[in-house]
Amino acid sequence: MNDYISRQGSAEDRRKARFLNKSSTTAIKYLRKIEDLPHKPDALKPFTDVLKHVFVDMQGAVKPQGVPSVGTYCVMIPPELIYAMGAMPVKLCGGSYTAFNVGDDIAPRDACPLVKAIMGFESIGVMPVYQECQLMAVPITCDCKKKLAGYLAERRNTIALHVPSGRDRDEDMEQYVRELYLFSQKLTEVTDVELSYERLSWACGMTAAAQYELSRFIELRRKYPLAIKGTHYMAAMNAISYTHISLWTRYMHNLCDEIEAKAKRGEMASKENRPRILITGSPIVFPNFKIPLLIEEMGGALVADETCMGERGAYDPPAIVDQSTDGIMRALANKSTRPCTCPTFVDNKRRVYRIMQMLKDYRVQGVIYHVLRGCLVYDYEYQVMEEELGKLGIPIIRIESDYNEEDVEQLRIRIEAFIELIKYGKGSSK
Ligand code: SF4
Ligand code: SF4
Repeated sequence: MNDYISRQGSAEDRRKARFLNKSSTTAIKYLRKIEDLPHKPDALKPFTDVLKHVFVDMQGAVKPQGVPSVGTYCVMIPPELIYAMGAMPVKLCGGSYTAFNVGDDIAPRDACPLVKAIMGFESIGVMPVYQECQLMAVPITCDCKKKLAGYLAERRNTIALHVPSGRDRDEDMEQYVRELYLFSQKLTEVTDVELSYERLSWACGMTAAAQYELSRFIELRRKYPLAIKGTHYMAAMNAISYTHISLWTRYMHNLCDEIEAKAKRGEMASKENRPRILITGSPIVFPNFKIPLLIEEMGGALVADETCMGERGAYDPPAIVDQSTDGIMRALANKSTRPCTCPTFVDNKRRVYRIMQMLKDYRVQGVIYHVLRGCLVYDYEYQVMEEELGKLGIPIIRIESDYNEEDVEQLRIRIEAFIELIKYGKGSSK
């Protein structure tokens, strides 16, 4: 009997070891591809080091010692509140093909790969960045996230936050303010820190510094859309998920300085004749970088990223009009939902408006609309975007993908044809 148990134990250990090995091999491969793209800024290294630390060296989040981690699964969970309560938010949306394969046996066939990857990580239980989280905060945004919340709650200390699906009525906001107060109580159980005006305002100040650097970066990109490869930019934005905000701010400050200096000298990362592409749609989470890499390998310049792993994640600062604990909590509820362009809301006019604005800002010539297989909310909105862009004469293509590499060649052909279409004028904007 003992023999049987130990054989079972070692089989499980071998399975976990194989998982870690395969995960880090994929992460190394994609990190290399990112690093091998020409014109990589020197200041990108700390960001790629973070991705290496978490996905290759299999370490936890990059943060000061002793700060507990809280896993979050959406940009609608305000990081300010978690920092205020003495913890660090770690965004755990999964991009791993290896974890997806594990999760594929747990979730229904048509669930999205991002949620399957999260379930895979959870069930195998070996990734330090997941394991060290003392609380999981899951927003109820789409059906996949709802079922994920239930799955995690059976295994981990979890809170499900009910995000309103409308946001124009005061009642919607009141509901989310109440959710954030409940969340703060859960955080107190983990950290022993009580909610206070002083802590909230300190945390808002710290995240505002990151938002300042990001706005500086966005401004630079508007002025010089070709100053950095979009894939490099996406790696820097992905790293925010696993880095303490004060460190990320420093890294971003250095990246801005380097890009600004190069742009002033006329050193661009892409040639002027490369078609300028905006990517929008389902999140693109490291190491699932096949689409941004293909865009740049096939001769496009990825100048803008509207996904929630891009600037959307840290774009909107809270507008605090009432300087009190409640005033800040209301400002956080507001900034997390009202300006958000995620199509999980009933009304998605803001999404169209924001994308139209980005098209102008970055002088975009074509849009790649990314749909993760099973991600219905983004798929629904495709038609609206197609109609709006049709009015402007800007080409758009819907690219569906899954978490594996079997579709890479097919994606390559479609992306190449799309870029050629823009390049040689058929259907491109004037
Ligand atoms: S796609 Fe929408 S619901 Fe999903 S993580 Fe991003 S913002 Fe949240
Ligand atoms: S919004 Fe899409 S990608 Fe995000 S969890 Fe839901 S189905 Fe998956």
